[in-house]
Amino acid sequence: MPITNQNLWRANANNNFIGSPLNDDLHSDLVIVGAGYSGLCAALHAAEQGMRVRVLEAHTVGHGGSGRNVGLVNAGLWTPPDEVETTLGHVAGNTLNYALAAAPDLVFSLIEKHQIECEPLRHGTLHCATNNAGLRQLTQRLAQQVKRQAPVTLLGASNTQQRTGSRRFLGALLDPRAGTVQPLSYALGLAQAAAKAGAVIHTQSPVLTHQHNGKHWLVNTAHGSITADKLIHATNAYDSLSPHSKAFTRVDYVQFATQPLTLQQRASVLPNGEGCWDTNQVMSSFRMDKSGRLIIGGVGSLDGRGKGTHINWAHRKLRALFPQITHYKFEYMWHGHIAMTNNHLPKITQLGTNGIRLYGYSGRGIGPGTLFGTAAAKWAFNGDEHPLPVAITNPKPETYTHVKASYFDMGATLSHWLSCRF
Ligand SMILES: Cc1cc2nc3c(=O)[nH]c(=O)nc-3n(C[C@H](O)[C@H](O)[C@H](O)COP(=O)(O)OP(=O)(O)OC[C@H]3O[C@@H](n4cnc5c(N)ncnc54)[C@H](O)[C@@H]3O)c2cc1C
Repeated sequence: MPITNQNLWRANANNNFIGSPLNDDLHSDLVIVGAGYSGLCAALHAAEQGMRVRVLEAHTVGHGGSGRNVGLVNAGLWTPPDEVETTLGHVAGNTLNYALAAAPDLVFSLIEKHQIECEPLRHGTLHCATNNAGLRQLTQRLAQQVKRQAPVTLLGASNTQQRTGSRRFLGALLDPRAGTVQPLSYALGLAQAAAKAGAVIHTQSPVLTHQHNGKHWLVNTAHGSITADKLIHATNAYDSLSPHSKAFTRVDYVQFATQPLTLQQRASVLPNGEGCWDTNQVMSSFRMDKSGRLIIGGVGSLDGRGKGTHINWAHRKLRALFPQITHYKFEYMWHGHIAMTNNHLPKITQLGTNGIRLYGYSGRGIGPGTLFGTAAAKWAFNGDEHPLPVAITNPKPETYTHVKASYFDMGATLSHWLSCRF
């Protein structure tokens, strides 16, 4: 099969969810815009608390980042925990760090509770050092994690080679709290669980406007409307309602999946199934899926002029990491948008009376989206802001978001053009 512009996760999803478009004028306690992890976890938990919940999704469940990501269920953010505390202050930073450290527990317990078939594998993740600077970075991260009693360990080069099957790394930070999932199947399973709990999910129903009329939220689609007491706006990087809000910088990330490797090949690449990413400034990732496909990812987009460069990079990267894989074909390639905030921290902003917006996971949204959505349901239920992992702030546009997006795009293309050539 030749490589196609197709998302592997969509092609082999374990679950299905077919909602119906909104074609009526209805009332609910809570309306949620966006059916990714954030919106679906909010819907599931609010419905479980007895709220009448409607979700409006512009396309299909998992159309956004939740159906396109790498599937690494990480504990914490990209931003090291000390930096989180410096940015938010000790108490708020500490609260967010501890909540996110437990986010994989939340994800894997939801999977267990609702029996979601999404290839869950909790064998840890490896953050791999590509050079001495990367190794120093990992040593600092290790110290910060150990200070917080996190069970992470720094592996040496030979141990890293044994686990990854690649000689390219000087070491790796192993985080056993983390793991991998089939990301779209996780989203579809959440949708099934939310619907079972009583939430109604309308797909193919793009929200055109939402406003508070002093009494209720009024949310309009082309063929219907919903009035509701509370609103959660959970569109993250895929927001079609306010695409010019400058709330974050959009960064694209592209992935390539091989055909299922042979048993012999599989024995020599990630035999234990950890999900991996590296310390390069222009980061890349690699993991296996359940059927033995090797998936390589990096910053970049398949739209526009960089496409050929990214495809060539993926081949060179695979051969550089795993020269033992002499015969392979890429069969799938796809990309998605990441919502990157200035300080790389997720945000909850006020959206008028009784409305909030969750966004800005900055490339780490499986655990955080699950956590933020779950906490937002508690807020919707009783208005209590206490369970939210970050304080609600007023929206503040970020500066130069378009310039930064182009910078990331061009930087990634240049880096991929140069990388693994020598
Ligand atoms: C390629 C890639 C790799 C990533 N890798 C990882 C990873 O390995 N680990 C990790 O933790 N995170 C990763 N992330 C980040 C993670 O996928 C996201 O942070 C997370 O999925 C965000 O979930 P969400 O529910 O907030 O938003 P989304 O999943 O993006 O959902 C938003 C939804 O809102 C809908 N929408 C938008 N506008 C409207 C409208 N007007 N009306 C109705 N609906 C609307 C969209 O169609 C979309 O379905 C990655 C992201 C990408 C793109």
